[in-house]
Amino acid sequence: MKSTIDANIQTVLSHGKYIMGPEVGELEAKLADFVGVTHAIGCASGTDALLMALMAFNVGSGDAIFTTPFTFIATAEVIRLLGATPVFVDIDPVTFNMDSVKLEKAIRAFHADDRSLYPLPNQGASPLTPRGIIPVDLFGLPSDYDQINAIAKANDLFVIQDAAQSFGGQYKGRNACGQADIGCTSFFPAKPLGCYGDGGMCFTDNEELAKTLLSIRVHGKGTHKYDNMRIGINGRLDTLQAAILKAKFDIFQEEVSQRNQAAQRYTEFLSPITHRTPPINLPTVPSENKSVWAQYSVLATDENHRTQIQNALKEKGIPTAIYYPKPLHRQTAFASLGYQPGDFPISEDCSDRIFSLPMHPYLRSEDQEMIARVMGNG
Ligand SMILES: *Cc1c(COP(=O)(O)O)cnc(C)c1O
Repeated sequence: MKSTIDANIQTVLSHGKYIMGPEVGELEAKLADFVGVTHAIGCASGTDALLMALMAFNVGSGDAIFTTPFTFIATAEVIRLLGATPVFVDIDPVTFNMDSVKLEKAIRAFHADDRSLYPLPNQGASPLTPRGIIPVDLFGLPSDYDQINAIAKANDLFVIQDAAQSFGGQYKGRNACGQADIGCTSFFPAKPLGCYGDGGMCFTDNEELAKTLLSIRVHGKGTHKYDNMRIGINGRLDTLQAAILKAKFDIFQEEVSQRNQAAQRYTEFLSPITHRTPPINLPTVPSENKSVWAQYSVLATDENHRTQIQNALKEKGIPTAIYYPKPLHRQTAFASLGYQPGDFPISEDCSDRIFSLPMHPYLRSEDQEMIARVMGNG
């Protein structure tokens, strides 16, 4: 891609429109079309995309947002940053995404203010108002939006899709980012569609929300930049990043299919050790969906087993990573919510056992075979 990327960068250096240059709008149009929504709003990071989405719904102090504790800190951080309260809902052990049965339980417990029904966060002096849900499409696999959207509708809640990892994945034949009121993705270099720094995007079919997001992105601007209608942020997508993404997007669909082929090969090479003692659990994708395989994450039997395999791989120079070693309700940053160990057993169990193997579109079959061999001996 070097020549195309370099040429696109040079174009920006020549026209010099570093802030909101033409590449930003061009990329937004391309990606909106890909996702199948009417509006795409580029922004400075995936975190800003989530923050802007919550701000577009006027989320603030006294509001409660349902999300999962098995995610990157940013998902719940932005809720707290606005003074609202995350209400955690445990994940499904197979998909690692929000469990919609538990979501209903949490909503019921919340309305009844009854912790015996489901673990709840500390409430402040006055009761919280439930406002929305942020499902996370973990490791590139979209959450179950038909179920989540139905629950949201029945309870008058909005849905913000944390698609930071799932851009390029599919839910029931439609590309990820278009399943909720607002879909948010990230172009952090390690994500499936990565840029050369920070970047992100919001997607929506809602005209009003799109207008609000555009305003929030530039300090809450009204008709011009010195007319300020609301409190916003400096959340613009850098023109250089948009230019790089435009080039990389040309081969993105090919890369998505290469990622899927790599995942299939892992599953094939690793399947013998799923029957061994101790076994390894491989990821599975519901048949109607498609993962973009931001990560290929497997489960060891316990923490020691995981360490043993990770060490065996490390000895051969094969890197692995743990997403995520500590669920958010166990993080010091969220201690004030008052959650206890054991509140979200699936998330806690996965944190102890999960680890991710190398994953990118250019993984070679022979390297994956070698990884599987090392894991089989480890
Ligand atoms: C990466 C990520 C984010 C944040 O994106 P940034 O671009 O790094 O700000 C949010 N949520 C999830 C699930 C992520 O993986």
